[in-house]
Amino acid sequence: MPAIPFDNSYATLPESLYTKLPPESVPSPNLICVNRTLAKKLGISPEFLQSPEGLQALSGNAILQGSEPLAQAYAGHQFGHYSPQLGDGRAILLGEIISPSDDQRYDIQLKGSGRTPYSRGGDGKAALGPVMREYILSEAMHALGVPTTRALAAVTTGEIVVRQDGPQPGAIFTRIASSHIRVGTFQWSAAQGDTNLLRSLADYTIDRHYPSARNHTSPYQSLLSQVIDAQAKLVSQWMALGFIHGVMNTDNTTISGETIDYGPCAFMDKFHPNCVFSSIDEQGRYAWGKQASIILWNLTRFAETLLPLIDENTDTAIAIAEETLSSFQHTFESLYLARFRDKLGLPPTAPVAIIQDLLQLMADQEVDFTLCFTELTRSLASNDNSPLAALFLDPHSITLWTQQWKQHIEPDSALKTMRQHNPVRIPRNHRVEQAIQAAYQGDFAPFHQLNKALTSPYSESTQHADFESPPLPHEIVRETFC
Ligand code: AMP
Ligand code: MG
Ligand code: MG
Repeated sequence: MPAIPFDNSYATLPESLYTKLPPESVPSPNLICVNRTLAKKLGISPEFLQSPEGLQALSGNAILQGSEPLAQAYAGHQFGHYSPQLGDGRAILLGEIISPSDDQRYDIQLKGSGRTPYSRGGDGKAALGPVMREYILSEAMHALGVPTTRALAAVTTGEIVVRQDGPQPGAIFTRIASSHIRVGTFQWSAAQGDTNLLRSLADYTIDRHYPSARNHTSPYQSLLSQVIDAQAKLVSQWMALGFIHGVMNTDNTTISGETIDYGPCAFMDKFHPNCVFSSIDEQGRYAWGKQASIILWNLTRFAETLLPLIDENTDTAIAIAEETLSSFQHTFESLYLARFRDKLGLPPTAPVAIIQDLLQLMADQEVDFTLCFTELTRSLASNDNSPLAALFLDPHSITLWTQQWKQHIEPDSALKTMRQHNPVRIPRNHRVEQAIQAAYQGDFAPFHQLNKALTSPYSESTQHADFESPPLPHEIVRETFC
């Protein structure tokens, strides 16, 4: 019985989609963390992953039986500019497994495992801080109920990697994804000028993610339409949680509709639609309030790649693609409004202005996004408005708003819905940063505590109250990095 029952399919696709190569070896790996719950769900023994043999596999030092390591090729628009060759510059797909818990196929990928033909100038490595960030944020995202890639394990490598802010310990992250197929993967395939290659990728993607498209009279249009819906849902969920992805390049947009690439992202503290954390997003291209229009832009790039498959006649294909893309706006808005209605316990008939008015007050008065909805929920349970009002510079303004709001809700059912949609705890930047800084000193306890607190984000718990609070002024993190 192999330690991991690999069942690889990507490796059977045309070779121009990847390069087969093993991960690089590292000098002295050490285990930081194994996600035992996820391992069990995937049918992998957590004890194996925590064993010396498991550590060798998680660090890239040993190739397990059945693994066919490869780096995937992709292109992509980065900040609106097309890069014809990106690809896994520091990641290796070890292979896929079928999870016994849901019968779904998952990728197992090492991130930070050394150079590949797609590394360009990079070192192929990952630093400890970003690995911890991705671990914490992706697992928190999952617990919040948002589709996302996940964290199976993290190890240190014993190497030092040099980054902008100096030397850092090296680390490797084991990422699980329902696939790593990106808009950029389609852009790569389309750019090869080989319609058969493109069709192979599209057929593979349909089989893996959207098998119902097969029954459609136009399977590739159905693929486009289903990806549009999946991404509209994803971005509406992000926005309802105050999440800013930060680097919504087309190579960081999955076809599955999972969140991928936790680089310069953040859950914002004080609400503002223009909020950005990324150190490299100087124009605010990927600000909280721009994410819907950006995903539509990315989906339009995806649609362009599909044109030769949608119809032989380019004009016809464009007309079909445009028609399909035109559904995005309505789909997104309905999902977004439904999310915010749920956050406020409002029925579908309630006027949209109630949502807009609250967001305006929050933005004008720089109110903490998560805490505002938590205190609003609590105010309904306790009949005490004062902790909510105390978040506003002008408490009277929120009291007036609350009076309006109350006319539209049915308190008992509203409270139930609100508790399901307003997390008490999110991975706040300053907490993530504190966990990273402690790890640099060799103390991983804050990392484990934070992960634990974030596994039940919607449950009130005095035990984890520390993780609810916004940062004190000296704790505020204004920038996050790739
Ligand atoms: P990202 O900004 O994380 O989406 O990465 C963009 C591209 O840069 C991808 O092709 C990555 O594989 C590549 N990349 C990022 N960091 C490194 C690194 N340290 N070494 C090699 N390639 C990298
Ligand atoms: Mg990326
Ligand atoms: Mg990245």
